[in-house]
Amino acid sequence: MATASLNPAMRLFDTLTRTDHDLRPIDGSTFRFYCCGPTVYGPAHIGNFRTFVLQDVLRRTLETGGTRTLHVRNITDVDDKTIRDSQSAGKSLKDFTNDWTEKFHEDCEKIGLLQPHIEPGAVDHIPQQIAMIATLVEKCHAYASDDGSVYFKIASFPSYGRLSHLEERELDLGKTQNTRSNSDEYEKDNLSDFVLWKGRKADDGDNFWLSPWGEGRPGWHLECSAMIQEYLGNSFDLHSGGVDLVFPHHENEIAQSECACGGGFAAHWFHITHLLVDGGKMSKSRGNLYTLGDLAALGYTAMEVRYVLIGAHYRKQLNFTLDSLSGAREALAKLAKGARQLAAKIEPGTRISVADFGPFQVAWDSLNHDLNTPAALGGIFTGLREAANMTGEEAASALAGFNRLLRALGITLPAEVVNDTIIIPDHVRALAEARWEARSMKKWQESDTLRDQLAEQGWFIKDGKDGYELESNA
Ligand code: AMP
Ligand code: ZN
Repeated sequence: MATASLNPAMRLFDTLTRTDHDLRPIDGSTFRFYCCGPTVYGPAHIGNFRTFVLQDVLRRTLETGGTRTLHVRNITDVDDKTIRDSQSAGKSLKDFTNDWTEKFHEDCEKIGLLQPHIEPGAVDHIPQQIAMIATLVEKCHAYASDDGSVYFKIASFPSYGRLSHLEERELDLGKTQNTRSNSDEYEKDNLSDFVLWKGRKADDGDNFWLSPWGEGRPGWHLECSAMIQEYLGNSFDLHSGGVDLVFPHHENEIAQSECACGGGFAAHWFHITHLLVDGGKMSKSRGNLYTLGDLAALGYTAMEVRYVLIGAHYRKQLNFTLDSLSGAREALAKLAKGARQLAAKIEPGTRISVADFGPFQVAWDSLNHDLNTPAALGGIFTGLREAANMTGEEAASALAGFNRLLRALGITLPAEVVNDTIIIPDHVRALAEARWEARSMKKWQESDTLRDQLAEQGWFIKDGKDGYELESNA
């Protein structure tokens, strides 16, 4: 059996350097990372969830390996789309975006995402955004235009384009003089100065704030730079989003942050390839834009969706079909059956001798090697076949490894089929054993006291004729 290692250095491909790197916290203690969050003007679709689920698996893998994390994911609650759709819904921007944020949180819970430690919204950070623009203007990296907007001057940042490797396309920043884009989204061929502050327009309704450049609102790219500065400082461990964010969003974030804060920024870039549906882009007009709610209406669970989303490597294309959900259902049932068979072979009270992954070590290693989720899933099935011949402590340890791996992937099986109670801390086991002994010797008071102590720690005893079972309410 492979030697146990809960904490090998996790390696991950970096978009900027195009090579794998070890993920180790810069500050030596906490891995601090930022994910661009949803724009809350409608329900998130399963493409968005491919990105959020893979970010979640990254975090869970780090945490399972013993690394503490600080996860920041923003909410984009002011932009062209949120303003436009709040107006057509006849709601204030705040009410409108609050409603969609709530719906997003419900979906996140269903699909098993851990809550980010900090979830800042753009509207709550207007002063920070204005301050950052002011610094950029002061340092001559930005300029105000006649319409009250402020633009970032990309010719003032010679390394512009390095994340998306624009240099390979004969980038000529000189050509961008006097070209600017007031839209948050544009193509590489329209490289131009981008907007940091949008001067107030009639369409904006009540949604404007006062700034040194007049009334207006922040551009989309700026919000992430300002919130990163607020919560993670000048340098942090990793930045992430779907591949569509590499250009221009993340490119612009680098430019703003490095120019305003004087260097640093993200040590590592993690981008997730887009999900395709039925071989093409998801769009409302093609009728193939699915939300978790749409799929629930067709009888599929969010956990089945999660299983499909982690079924391909994050740097490979994943083509979503309804058939793949049926496959996920079968796979989850097989996992549950395998776990049940393993649990059935373990006598109540069996100790776990080693805290490793046992036959699931290969699966664990796959996760730590560029977050290879499909290889990890394959490794779980191989591990279950290997564990079929195990008994006693070895089987108990294997089941503990299986459960730990499932937690890293964020997969939950129906509670009734997995005997998760097998992972019993030594001090709990010692209390339970002492209580069983007291009970056998009819020392009822002592036995009751020990039972209460166990209950206080969330453990409950079910007595049988010849022994006991421990159950956790965790
Ligand atoms: P948005 O709500 O559009 O700002 O997107 C939220 C996150 O989902 C971003 O990281 C996007 O890059 C990502 N995303 C959008 N569409 C897809 C897709 N089809 N597949 C994977 N990720 C996506
Ligand atoms: Zn962002």
